[in-house]
Amino acid sequence: NTEDIKILLLENVNQTGRDILTAQGYQVEFLKTSLPEDQLIEKIRDVHVIGIRSKTKLTEKVLREAKNLLVIGCFCIGTNQVDLEYAASHGIAVFNSPFANSRSVAELVIAEIIMLARQLGDRSNEMHRGTWNKVSSKCWEIRGKTLGIVGYGHIGSQLSVLAESMGMSVIYYDVLTLMAIGTAKQVPTLQALLQEADFVTLHVPETPETKNMISSKEFEQMKTGAYLINASRGTVVDIPALIKAMRGGKIAGAALDVYPHEPAANGDYFNAQLNQWGEELRGLNNIILTPHIGGSTEEAQRAIGVEVADALVRYINQGSTVGSVNMPEVTMRSLTLDEPNHARVIYIHRNVPGVLRKVTEILSGHNVDRQITDSKGKVAYLMADVSTVNTDDIKTIHDSLDLLNSRILTRVLY
Ligand code: NAD
Repeated sequence: NTEDIKILLLENVNQTGRDILTAQGYQVEFLKTSLPEDQLIEKIRDVHVIGIRSKTKLTEKVLREAKNLLVIGCFCIGTNQVDLEYAASHGIAVFNSPFANSRSVAELVIAEIIMLARQLGDRSNEMHRGTWNKVSSKCWEIRGKTLGIVGYGHIGSQLSVLAESMGMSVIYYDVLTLMAIGTAKQVPTLQALLQEADFVTLHVPETPETKNMISSKEFEQMKTGAYLINASRGTVVDIPALIKAMRGGKIAGAALDVYPHEPAANGDYFNAQLNQWGEELRGLNNIILTPHIGGSTEEAQRAIGVEVADALVRYINQGSTVGSVNMPEVTMRSLTLDEPNHARVIYIHRNVPGVLRKVTEILSGHNVDRQITDSKGKVAYLMADVSTVNTDDIKTIHDSLDLLNSRILTRVLY
């Protein structure tokens, strides 16, 4: 029953998310802050769902106490604060919101393209220091210039549309062959992109392949006077190579929103974390430095609230794991809960041989309308819709599955 589901929301989760969960009839408790570990342990024992942001650490120690917990909603992008493996091996699904801020990042990049082309950062800094320095040399319109997008995913493709509408030509490079939006053109290699683009902007994930993807060799391949924007991950650009390319005049400007090492809290940064080359970066002309704010807007926070709350509702009511970061992604068409004699069986189990045979035996007296199973590492997720079941059958199915030694968690929705 939905009214039996107890949810604890910490860290001032966005109102949009709270409204969706409350409208389902769940019992929602909302706190503005995170909790000290002892209080968190006390509270988590009781709840089926917990919603957090980045400050709440759901370690093995905490999760060990979470005996009723079905699912964790991270109302943010990252999931490092959760022990994902421990959660999966105890049948706790984890959801986050990786794409709700794509538009915010794309808009920031648009702003930066114009700022760099017009040296706005430098002019503004000069005025703040009291200097009137009117220049037009090496200041450009962006109309007719070529934007090279590296990584044409959620952010890259949004940006493509915005840039074209301002009169830029767009080329992109991606490891996948992707449908171009508007009149953008995919190029076959990174080198081809670097040779042609006036502005290069990076939108790839952090992977071993993208580490130092833009280094001395790549700066060499870029046009003289080109600009570089990195709002992806700090590891993608080799910072000392960037400093060198800017000092030598090869690169006319850069915008960095992300860095190889980023602090956990606001405060002193360059002195503490970037002392090897922080001073040099700060001393360069026409470089915009921002503290990882690409996705930091009110709209993105609202969209995160909706995306994560919707995922939680789908998981609680339907068992769908689509979008989960630690479970195999399994879904089937919605179960009609008011249909008599129907139930959805969810069996999360250890990924070992022989389980399906035993599950089939348990379900064999009933009509299995549809069934699906998938695994991720040590954990497998089975979902089956059965008909011709009454309340007693449901209890028998549940208890029989629960007795199998492969069991991690059994749920029957009806
Ligand atoms: P996405 O997964 O939608 O797109 C990434 C694209 O990069 C995909 O099309 C993929 O095929 C491509 N790709 C992967 N490896 C590649 C490689 N080696 N060479 C070329 N292309 C490659 O991701 P997204 O949501 O567009 O995010 C892009 C980046 O932006 C990520 O690193 C993400 O962490 C970062 N991000 C930053 C902020 C911020 O605040 N600055 C906010 C959100 C996302």
